[in-house]
Amino acid sequence: MSETYDLLVTGGTVLNPAAGLRQQLDVGVKDGRVAALQAKLPRAEAKRVIEVPGCYVTPGLIDFHVHSFWGVNPYGCELDSLCMSTGVTTAIDAGSSGPINFKGFQKLVYEPSKTRMIAFVALAQHGVLNDPGELEDLRFADPNAAAATVGEFPNVGVGIKVRLHKKGVGVNGREALRLAIHAGEASKSPVMVHVGNTGIPMSEIAATLRPGDVITHCYTPQKPSIIDEQGRLLPEVRKAKERGVIFDVGHAGGHFDFNLVQRAMGEGIIPDVISSDLHGRLSQPGFGVVGDLPTVLTKFLPMGLSFDEIIANCTINAARAVGWQDRIGSLEVGREADIAVLQILDDPVTLRDSVGAEKLHKQRIAAKWTIRAGEVFQGRG
Ligand SMILES: [Zn+2]
Repeated sequence: MSETYDLLVTGGTVLNPAAGLRQQLDVGVKDGRVAALQAKLPRAEAKRVIEVPGCYVTPGLIDFHVHSFWGVNPYGCELDSLCMSTGVTTAIDAGSSGPINFKGFQKLVYEPSKTRMIAFVALAQHGVLNDPGELEDLRFADPNAAAATVGEFPNVGVGIKVRLHKKGVGVNGREALRLAIHAGEASKSPVMVHVGNTGIPMSEIAATLRPGDVITHCYTPQKPSIIDEQGRLLPEVRKAKERGVIFDVGHAGGHFDFNLVQRAMGEGIIPDVISSDLHGRLSQPGFGVVGDLPTVLTKFLPMGLSFDEIIANCTINAARAVGWQDRIGSLEVGREADIAVLQILDDPVTLRDSVGAEKLHKQRIAAKWTIRAGEVFQGRG
């Protein structure tokens, strides 16, 4: 006799912000999909049972900003096993490939990875580069091809990426932004814009972005930041937030400043999406001050976000930001079984930012299990 479920996750609290659900429920998985979500499922009907008392069972986490084009792009790193040990079932590469090599990203990263590795397509035809930067010569910008690529790869491409960092675009920031918006319009997809050390004012960038476009590194201390020299939030940034521009953390090595986060959040600039921006140029092993996505999420506990808000950020909010809310970011019967089993451990942790500040917090968020399309991976804890 074959069992009703391949897997039963039992005894945990299901937290699914997409549906406003927070309740003790069992999750039954069959053929890689969520088959049942009920108070008590019969364990005799499951091939494998995982007991998770005291844990939160959430949709698989989405790391909205990473660099996964390993061995090809200068920022690429091997992230599949890290994702599978940290609750991350979907990771979104931020422009490591462009229209001329996006097929390579699909073949070399998307297809072989356990993690659902999807990507923003760079405006620059070959993806982001280190030195020289990818758009120091604007002839490398190809907005029409970048837009076409998003359309040609509907299961991999999610939007357009442009870095306005002076190292990326030299003096071409204004034109690069204009071309990226053009590509976003042509592909009907969001544009993710890197801020931090830009040659054009933050007010101009914020005023240019459309609802749904993404400011990544939104709390960067690198000038110009969203807070001016007098410590005030730029009015254009407030207006961008009000009209639905998405604020993504994009931590990386240099883009997280506890003081700035606190000040910005006090002015209403709450993150929409919390992401790691893990990449291959961070000090390794251990990825420096970033650590991993659960560590970045933990940093928002002392900043005043609730655990539920944090989980919304890296599940349904991230999914909506790329228009994938019908595919990922929610734990529902019939969906692919992408699940994170998380704990809030009473385990004091020293949290570090990019400017040398430290915060001791009494708890940390940790992954106990990652389940990707029904396949189970042990969390690193
Ligand atoms: Zn990045």
